[in-house]
Amino acid sequence: MPWLTQLADVARATGFPVTEVGEWKTRGHGPQPSVQGVVCHHTAGWNDRNVVVHGRPGLDGPLSHIWLQHTGRIWVVAAGRCWHNAPSTSGHHTNSASIGIEAENDGHTPWPQVQLDAYEALCAELCREFGLPASRVRAHREVNKAKPDPHSINMTTFRAHVAQQITSPGTPIEQQEDDVPEVTSLGAGQDQDVPAGGELAVRWHTEYADDPPAHNEDGVAVMAKASRWCIVDGLVKVRGLKPGTEIDVAWSRYSRDGKEFEDDAWRLSFRADANGRVEQNIAGQFGLNTKNQLRLRIINPTDAAAVVEKVSMAKISMFSR
Ligand SMILES: [Zn+2]
Repeated sequence: MPWLTQLADVARATGFPVTEVGEWKTRGHGPQPSVQGVVCHHTAGWNDRNVVVHGRPGLDGPLSHIWLQHTGRIWVVAAGRCWHNAPSTSGHHTNSASIGIEAENDGHTPWPQVQLDAYEALCAELCREFGLPASRVRAHREVNKAKPDPHSINMTTFRAHVAQQITSPGTPIEQQEDDVPEVTSLGAGQDQDVPAGGELAVRWHTEYADDPPAHNEDGVAVMAKASRWCIVDGLVKVRGLKPGTEIDVAWSRYSRDGKEFEDDAWRLSFRADANGRVEQNIAGQFGLNTKNQLRLRIINPTDAAAVVEKVSMAKISMFSR
């Protein structure tokens, strides 16, 4: 079998967005000898396309034919043989006999539905192209006992969906990234001090799911990549207040660089209970755009220092306007 220069067209047949990585048509450890199976992986990291393309110390790239981004975008990396499964317990799934898909995931974060949909659609198109049954789609862990990937995907269900899509051609999911609400789930992750007579923008140390660049590096700002309507819900737990005193909690907009306060899009006052605690939800709906950012602020006008507890969290859903 020659170089698999049809892979980009096969990927595009899924209806999911496709990017061809430069020089992919001649990238490989020689040509692909045969295609008898497909091996599904997770990368055990984020934003690691370059590792799949160029390799890592001790293992030269390309590591797989395709890198499947968490957004559902399919990146076509190589047309030749890739180092993604050795040793293999299945003759149909050796490097010389199979196509490897490395899906971007750190190995424990739940899979975004859009990425799973793209994963199944891609496997179905590959099966159709190379005349394979869905049973030839295997998890890395199924053909290499030392491997755990891809985590948490029930391959029986996965293959059933692939089989369905192999036999029902002509109905690609017309899925564009912008049609999907971007959902960001954030957790404070650590207790954070709110000084007496001061305020704090909650720093998000835990990220459950994210469509970058919705969450910036300094950990306090949430940012939209285009003009978006946002539905937000924060669960705030604060301790250390004097019973009966009040704090404010606000979803606040700042300039994109975070230097200038714009407004409180949503701000409420809450009274500490008999134990000096505030446990409240603060929900809201408002717009964000590419010129501003969003923060969750705790304003403490009392004379007692308080603590925002690590279990505080927020969910932000962004919709195209
Ligand atoms: Zn793997």
